Amino acid sequence: MGQNFLQDEEIARWIGDQVQPDGADIVVEIGPGMGALTKHLVGRPKKLILIEKDSQLAPELQSQFEGRDDVEVIHNDATRINLRAWFKHGPLRIVGNLPYSVGSEILNLLVQKDWNVEMLRVVPPEVFVPKPRVDSAIIRLTPRDPATLPVFDHVLFDRLVRMGFSQRRKQLKNLLPEAPGGWESLIEALGVTGMVRAEALSLTQWIQIARHYEQRHEADAGQKASEMFDVVNERNEVIEQLTRGEVHKRKLLHRAVHIFVINKRGHIYLQQRSHLKDVSPLKWDSSAAGHLDAGESYASAAVRELGEEIGIHIEATELATQIPAGDNTDHEFVELHIARHDGPVRCLPEEIATGDWFKPEDISAWVEARPQDFAKGFVTCWKAWAQK
Ligand code: SAM
Repeated sequence: MGQNFLQDEEIARWIGDQVQPDGADIVVEIGPGMGALTKHLVGRPKKLILIEKDSQLAPELQSQFEGRDDVEVIHNDATRINLRAWFKHGPLRIVGNLPYSVGSEILNLLVQKDWNVEMLRVVPPEVFVPKPRVDSAIIRLTPRDPATLPVFDHVLFDRLVRMGFSQRRKQLKNLLPEAPGGWESLIEALGVTGMVRAEALSLTQWIQIARHYEQRHEADAGQKASEMFDVVNERNEVIEQLTRGEVHKRKLLHRAVHIFVINKRGHIYLQQRSHLKDVSPLKWDSSAAGHLDAGESYASAAVRELGEEIGIHIEATELATQIPAGDNTDHEFVELHIARHDGPVRCLPEEIATGDWFKPEDISAWVEARPQDFAKGFVTCWKAWAQK
């Protein structure tokens, strides 16, 4: 459990200040232990959530904060807690003096792809009881602007990094799968020698490796303004075909399909749109959604979008509801379809920043509290579906 308790008041207060808790909507502390950091956090954010795994310490914290509405103590393993239910509170601030066992080179790489990492301070062993055998670093992570890295398949990146670090003494060439075009072409692209080991490569070089395996050799591009759409009249009858750019510029009526993918547990997959999208970048959206191509039906567009955006290949979807074009759909006649699926989801990185499964009640609470986190078309679909 890595129980080295912080004894230095000044450092504890200083760490608490680094998360800027005053007036924050929500701060989560992982592993509060005997409350060394906690006492400098209580009363500062609107809500403080404490997650402690230890079966003696957690009940003590629970009785200490009993009766306080702004403090919640959760007796659980923090790695098993689902943070999604708290998205409705807005951006989370998470703080903790974590057990030393969480640190490793591989973690550093996996963290940096999504976070900016700032080294704030190094503290000596003497400030903890019992005294650890190493110094401790205090670091701050803030979300990385996705536009600072080229797009890459995050699942593939994780898999390659784990393979590369699986046997420290071995050269990378013997740990990674056969590279497209051969190992030589990969090391040439990276500008390294054939004997290179995993820890010698930077984040940018690991991303280059992932892109090489994806055979993604062209610069990242957003959506094409030249795609052709059917333009429709107010009765949703096709009247002409024009480019995407033209349709959006002139606010012409057109067609789109949204799909909610639901698993056996009744959870729904939502995607966060990529920063490369021209409309609603980084907003949360339906599992998959898109315009109908010229001449395409809603049903076939639903199956195509599921395959293209999130790698789900199914024969057919079910029609849930039809929504007329209006401001709340950005001038689209929308059909909402449902797909049942339990297997993995594989996001196309230029379309989707990330995605996850949510309980419907968590989505409803989140949409209610923070509609600004979502694409407009999704909110319309969600409300139409929830009413049914
Ligand atoms: N925050 C306290 C301090 O600064 O003195 C305690 C820090 S101590 C390094 C780590 C704390 O994390 C311990 O209280 C331990 O019981 C708790 N802990 C360890 N693993 C945990 C886990 N998976 N989930 C929640 N708490 C955990």
